[in-house]
Amino acid sequence: MPSPFFTRNTIADKDSLALLQLRRDQIIPTILRDHDDENQGYWEGKVTNTRFGSFPHSTLIGQPWGTQVGASKVDTGSRGRKSTKRKAEELDAATTPSGEEDANKKPLLRAPVAADSGFLHILAPTPEAWTISLPHRTQVVYTPDYSYILHRLRARPGCTVIEAGAGSGSFTHAAARAVFNGYPEAEQAAKRQRLGKVCSYEFHEQRVGKVQQELRDHGLDGMVEATHRDVYEDGFLLGDPITGKSPKANAIFLDLPAPWLALKHLVRNPPDGRESALDPESPAYLCTFSPCLEQAERTIRTMRQLSWLNISMVEVAQRRLDVKRDRVGLDTEGVRGATTFPKTVEEAVAKLRSDEERAKLIRDHRQTKDEPNYQPIVKETPFYKEKSNVPLYAQGRLTHRSEPDLRTHTSYLVFAILPRSWSEEDEQKCRKQWPSAQ
Ligand code: SAM
Repeated sequence: MPSPFFTRNTIADKDSLALLQLRRDQIIPTILRDHDDENQGYWEGKVTNTRFGSFPHSTLIGQPWGTQVGASKVDTGSRGRKSTKRKAEELDAATTPSGEEDANKKPLLRAPVAADSGFLHILAPTPEAWTISLPHRTQVVYTPDYSYILHRLRARPGCTVIEAGAGSGSFTHAAARAVFNGYPEAEQAAKRQRLGKVCSYEFHEQRVGKVQQELRDHGLDGMVEATHRDVYEDGFLLGDPITGKSPKANAIFLDLPAPWLALKHLVRNPPDGRESALDPESPAYLCTFSPCLEQAERTIRTMRQLSWLNISMVEVAQRRLDVKRDRVGLDTEGVRGATTFPKTVEEAVAKLRSDEERAKLIRDHRQTKDEPNYQPIVKETPFYKEKSNVPLYAQGRLTHRSEPDLRTHTSYLVFAILPRSWSEEDEQKCRKQWPSAQ
């Protein structure tokens, strides 16, 4: 299966990953199915239930990416769900006497009915959206950090990236895109010729199992090799830790509690006679990610001892700013509605009271909406939506506020470079290739 992260149709295909966006930072990942693979027991087939309503996958499959899809009426009570008996009967009917599934006998589904409530947008997967939506098993590396890290590591199509630990696979997806995206027929080429790769290591057994499953589900298993390994002890060779094959890495990212313990395995000539995990024909670019300065200092000391050069430390301090037009302080005549701003303390208190009353009215209005004599209340139009002859720029002052929660957990990034090794043989080769340089 081609990975939906690289090669995608213009529409959401069945059996592929789709990201269901409820709000800007609220995304639910799901594999689209035209049948009830999770045995949820809905008449409609597989259904994703959200706080904005229920979304049967039959209403999502085949939609162009970016489409807004309305919720459907899926009764979660006993009326909407098939009974256990009915499910058992269907399962029996769809199974041959030998116990195998009979593909021709699919369980009966019911067409969804539109609901008048919420909606979502169906988005194609990207590493950024996956980072927002992935199931967290550990702390993860967020987009502002990994985009800077991959840039400094010179991660590009065809190179090999080592990553440890894999954790929740956030960095893994971004690294896979850096190595494969944009490369002509990157996926096929990588599978056939092993052009580049992401080699990911994780010592927690369940976590590595989950990452491997996700890589399969996302069509990335030929490009990312996730290995169950304690890298402090066993290093980075593929297969057997002692006699295994070198990944020939050009870039290394260590998101580990004690990165300095893994550095002894990232040398040009390992003392124990193992093959080096680094590409002998290129410099190695390294980045470690540590929340404490003490960890960064210890890493830097070990880097120096092992001949790493150009050591530098960076902290990515991302702040997202909400920019909006505010009428604060603008009570000049001529700006429509601006005179409603309080000028005295009494006026301000009276305004607060009336705002509270209004809020209560809206709450009550919600509670009594279904009653026969219900009167809808007219909502106030925000000033910037009012029709006005005053140009937008004159309707208020632009203000910004930084968001309270920062979606990046601050760590110290330590970067270093290990130059390529240079043998007499390399010297001869170079002289032959560029005789004029002698
Ligand atoms: N970079 C990951 C991401 O973006 O999702 C998060 C990594 S998480 C902070 C650190 C991971 O390192 C944990 O899953 C932990 O199990 C793993 N780990 C810790 N020590 C390790 C070791 N010696 N060898 C391999 N993995 C290790």
